[in-house]
Formats: sequence, C-alpha cells, structure tokens
Amino acid sequence: AHVPLAGVLGWPIAHSRSPLLHGHWLQRYDLPGHYIPLPVRPENLLEVLRGLTKMGFVGANVTIPHKETVLQIADIVTDRAALIGAANTLIFREDGKIHADNTDGYGFISNLTQNAPDWQATRGAAAVIGAGGAARAVVASLLESGVPELRITNRTKLRAEQIKAEFGAKVVVYDWAQAGNMLEGATTVVNATSMGMTGKLPLRIPLDALSPDALVTDLVYTPLMTDLLKEAQSRGCKVVDGLGMLLHQAVPGFERWFGRRPEVDEDLRQAVL
Ligand code: NDP
Repeated sequence: AHVPLAGVLGWPIAHSRSPLLHGHWLQRYDLPGHYIPLPVRPENLLEVLRGLTKMGFVGANVTIPHKETVLQIADIVTDRAALIGAANTLIFREDGKIHADNTDGYGFISNLTQNAPDWQATRGAAAVIGAGGAARAVVASLLESGVPELRITNRTKLRAEQIKAEFGAKVVVYDWAQAGNMLEGATTVVNATSMGMTGKLPLRIPLDALSPDALVTDLVYTPLMTDLLKEAQSRGCKVVDGLGMLLHQAVPGFERWFGRRPEVDEDLRQAVL
C-alpha cells in the first residue's frame, strides 16, 4: 500500500505551522505518512493540484493566497466553504475529484468548547470584530451553533454589510467608531482582525460595556495573550487564545488523510509554539 502524502499549499509557505502540527501527530501515533510544505505560486495552483492527485497525495491544506481561488478548481465544494467563500482543507478522492471544505469554523468552536466548557453560543449575543476571511468562518460557525444575535463591526464597513447581506437577519452591523457599544450584553466577543499581532497595532476598543460574564477570544495567536485578552482577563472575563483554533481546524483533515482522529492537547501546543 502507498504511504499517504499530504501537505500545505501556500505562497510563501515557510512560516506555516501545519507541517509541525501534522508531523507531531504522525510521530505520536506512529503512523506511516508524510506532511510537506508545498510552495506554490498562484499561477501554478491548478497544475500543481492536478499533479498532486496523480502522485499519491490524499489531500492538502490550503493557505494564503489560495484559500479563495481553490473553490474555482475544486470539483466538489461543501456548502459551508461556499458560504464562507474560502476552503482550507482538500480531499483528493480516489476517483480523482477534489473535494474542498472549510474547517476554520469547526476549529473556532472546538477551541472554545475545549477551553471554556461552560460556554454556549445560545446564551447571548456574539460580538465579532473584523470581516475578513477568518471572520466569515467565525460568523458561519456561531450562527450554526445557534447564537441569537450576531453583532459585527469592521474598519471597512462595506465588508461587514456584505456579511449581513449573505448571512441573514441575525447579523447586526455596528459602526467601527462605536464598536464599544456592541459589547453591551454580549456573552461572546471575538477579535477576528489581524490587529494585536506581533508587529501590528493593538486592537483599541473601549471595553467599558464588557461584562465579566462574557467569554473573550482572539484569533491572533502571536502573542498568545494579546492586549485584548489581557484587558478582558483583568475585567474578570474568561479568555481563550487563538492557538487552539489553529490546532483544531487541522483535526478533520488529519483524520481523513491518515486514518486516525488526533487529539489536541498541551503537548501539541508546545510542539507548535
Ligand atoms: P483578512 O486579511 O481577510 O482580514 C483582515 C481583517 O483585519 C479585516 O477585518 C481588516 O479590516 C482588519 N484589519 C487589518 N488591519 C487593520 C487595521 N490597521 N485597523 C483595523 N482593522 C484592520 O485576514 P483573515 O481574516 O484571514 O485573518 C485575520 C486574523 O486572524 C489574522 O491575524 C490571522 O492570522 C488570524 N487567523 C487565525 C486563525 C487561527 O486558527 N487562530 C485562522 C485564520 C486566521 P479591513 O476589512 O478594514 O481591511
């Protein structure tokens, strides 16, 4: 039998943590298989994907700048990947067809469930800051989890309004300048912008209206404790960092490609940090 091959397609790809993550699991479970970083220029994506399917690859993760364009190439696109407008996990089927899914929302919810077991989307309004690709996955997963109201704000308001138009009546758009207002009564607060990342400006939103009952999470994971999370924690909020989302989004792909559902635990966090 073939040794299963998988990898991550991106340009550039050197900084991706996916090879570390999948490599750790392959070693831990003593499974045959390889997971490889695959640097692919945008203009070569189609050719590379067709080649990989002929080379014994069972699938791949997809990262910047291919997450949106891969939807045009895939033969089968899941409903949630189509709604989000991006895919991060490909399965190369035995019949040669490429199946594209988005597991970011799954990773987002699993991270909260694992690290804040009392958290429930249904308990109250969610406030999402940001309206990029990651925010779309977060919005889709929160709505699917039954959040009663989804508030969203974004520097470029049009992107937030597009999310409202696509995701429906539970979505309420707030002005960026009044972002603090949307924290009033919110029980889930998410930073889905890239602000707060090492080397970028911190996210500056007035937290006066933030309730200590709210769960606050950040998609940024370098640093693990962003200024937002530190400030929320000092106000008594439960906080969850973004690294777990990265780890959990990898689970469905690994299980499908290598045949074993892997665990997300402290050893894995240490291996990937
Ligand atoms: P996008 O480029 O699609 O979106 C970036 C978002 O950040 C937009 O909402 C953008 O607003 C906002 N933004 C950027 N700079 C500023 C600024 N100076 N002031 C105000 N808003 C700003 O990126 P993604 O959605 O793919 O990723 C967002 C973040 O989430 C990244 O840091 C990424 O690393 C992280 N991420 C983490 C994951 C995890 O597993 N933990 C998974 C995916 C992403 P505007 O629309 O106005 O430009």
